[in-house]
Amino acid sequence: MTTPCPTLSLSLEFFPPKTPEGVTKLAAARREMYALKPQFCSVTYGAGGSTQEGTLQTVRAILAEGVEAAPHFSCIGASRESIRDKLAQFKADGIHRLVALRGDLPSGYGGFGEFRYASDLVAFIRAETGNHFHVEVAAYPEMHPQSRSPQADLQAYVTKVKAGASSAITQFFFNADAYCRFVDETRALGADIPVVPGIMPITNSSGIIRFADACGAEIPRWIRLRLQSFGDDAASIKAFGLDVVADLCDRLRTAGVPGLHFYTMNQSTATLEICRRLGL
Ligand code: FAD
Repeated sequence: MTTPCPTLSLSLEFFPPKTPEGVTKLAAARREMYALKPQFCSVTYGAGGSTQEGTLQTVRAILAEGVEAAPHFSCIGASRESIRDKLAQFKADGIHRLVALRGDLPSGYGGFGEFRYASDLVAFIRAETGNHFHVEVAAYPEMHPQSRSPQADLQAYVTKVKAGASSAITQFFFNADAYCRFVDETRALGADIPVVPGIMPITNSSGIIRFADACGAEIPRWIRLRLQSFGDDAASIKAFGLDVVADLCDRLRTAGVPGLHFYTMNQSTATLEICRRLGL
């Protein structure tokens, strides 16, 4: 991984707003971020049905703005029939890209349903719809929190790619070496699709620490301690966060990543500033 990519594609991730004010705010944030000319925008999905309608509504709004939109689509707890219906709905809505996930079971759910892993979903999408969809999958440079071992996790990713994934988006990370090693190792195992790093802007201290702990992303000790040392000083946290994340993106670009996928958290300021610093 040493050749910088001449054209770095950008993509943006949003979550479906829960209130009318949230919808208005997200629409305004999107308009600002369209200046970055994103290749696509993706919209997260609550496994088990919590935000599925909101996902589709947000995706439709983005498509109506003339931008490619990809719903996140999880299979845990689902039946083949329900997945088949949703794929037909996506096609009818003019959707050509999906982020295919296993997802996590909400508490109170009994079992996996008819799909056990994201690779089962990818294979099903290909069997049912051929090449209609560009299928993105999740990748974990610092290992998925439930993986049995690093080797098993790499192999699970390779299985997902061989089932028909088109490209991957990573969980966020702050250690570029973990990403580069993941790409090198999975390529050696025969998984040769673009792996786009997921970039999480740091805008507050407790949120990022809680989020990282939940999804198995590591915040290096020096970043964690610096964030904690700022206490309630929001301006210093934001300034430090911008420096750290813009520097990470710059390193990743030098390492030759194919693109950057921003976990925007429906906010435009940090993503726009990071891209400005990168000259994008
Ligand atoms: P999988 O690829 O199926 O992996 C899940 C676990 O099973 C891993 O530990 C893996 O090692 C193991 N595994 C996989 N295949 C096999 C196999 N054949 N044999 C043995 N073990 C195996 N969650 C949401 O609820 N909504 C979202 O919108 C959402 N968007 C996301 C977007 C991105 C880019 C990422 C990185 C994550 C996202 N998530 C989302 C979180 C995701 O749902 C969780 O991380 C979930 O626990 C795993 O989903 P997956 O698709 O990676 O699962």
